[in-house]
Amino acid sequence: MNSIKFLDLQKINAQYAAQLKQVAADVIDSGWFLMGKQLDNFETNLAEFNGVKHAIGVANGLDALRLILKAYIDLGVMKEGDEVIVPANTYIASLLAISDNKLVPVLVEPNQKTFNIDFDLIERSITSKTKAIMVVHLYGQVCWDEKLEILAKKHNLKIIEDNAQAIGAEYKGTKTGNLGDAAGFSFYPGKNLGALGDAGAVTTNDDALAEQVRALGNYGSKQKYVNEFQGLNSRLDEIQAGFLDVKLKYIDTENQYRRQIAERYLTEITNPLIQLPFPINSNVKVGENKEHSWHLFVVRTQDRNRLQKYLAENDIQTLIHYPIPPNKQLAYAVMNHLDFPVTNDIHNEVLSLPISPVLANEEVTKVIEAINLFSI
Ligand SMILES: *Cc1c(COP(=O)(O)O)cnc(C)c1O
Repeated sequence: MNSIKFLDLQKINAQYAAQLKQVAADVIDSGWFLMGKQLDNFETNLAEFNGVKHAIGVANGLDALRLILKAYIDLGVMKEGDEVIVPANTYIASLLAISDNKLVPVLVEPNQKTFNIDFDLIERSITSKTKAIMVVHLYGQVCWDEKLEILAKKHNLKIIEDNAQAIGAEYKGTKTGNLGDAAGFSFYPGKNLGALGDAGAVTTNDDALAEQVRALGNYGSKQKYVNEFQGLNSRLDEIQAGFLDVKLKYIDTENQYRRQIAERYLTEITNPLIQLPFPINSNVKVGENKEHSWHLFVVRTQDRNRLQKYLAENDIQTLIHYPIPPNKQLAYAVMNHLDFPVTNDIHNEVLSLPISPVLANEEVTKVIEAINLFSI
């Protein structure tokens, strides 16, 4: 067998090549490249998929989050210097969206098992300046709880979902991206719904926020050459919107296939050196459990670097999400002194196994067999 790629993007998109090429041809022939019918269709279909009132296409996932916060500032919900609570072990984009708006990211440790923000640690980090909690559905596992809703209501906080990794996941029948006040999506090529380039979206049920995000992503303008706000240029190209609209039709099927792989890993990996992820509803069969989109299948082990090397020697490619926590990055030198032991352990111990809608059953078997033979 050939080597097993972590993620075979060529193979993923080859499934839809005829339709994608047709979209490209249609857009080229139309001569209309921005803010046209491809974007309209995709926004309508994404909103419907998520059961949410508004979906606004933007240039990428980071911009989706930046624009939500910028819009809240314009609407007077928050102001420069206010605080936004965010998990310490997230991808750095969540923090960048906050600090780019001159808001202050306040880091909170994750739960050891879910990898998501520890709901019990949030309240002690709330101050008079806290205006929002940014939850991140990390690795595709839903980060939601009644405790969170009660806390947000009690302290009058907005809940913003970083839904970059969890499109199609659900909490009690409601899709991520429709749980909080607003959500940012990424359609980076490697995400579960991947464009053929950069793309993102904002979803919300809040009319005023939607209107503001839409204006801010287009130079702060609602009417051409009339600029009410200092906006950005963050638009979703027609060609990418068209590609995404093709692939959106298959996201549930693809996520379901990921759940089947996850179920095999969870039941067949039996090596005691490997700690498996904990799906929230582990009492439900994983194949039917929609509380996870299985963007990544992340295991933990004390000997992570050796496991990665061993798997590479067995022609199995793995990745680390992520090797360095945001508060230890040079970009956040002001936070380098902060210590988050749970976050540190996670960054030292995690390894992401191949999981994707085109990973063959024999490949899954090979990964399982190799991991079960790993020893000290
Ligand atoms: C990918 C990602 C982003 C950023 O999305 P881009 O489209 O790459 O800008 C933000 N947050 C998380 C958790 C992500 O995984």
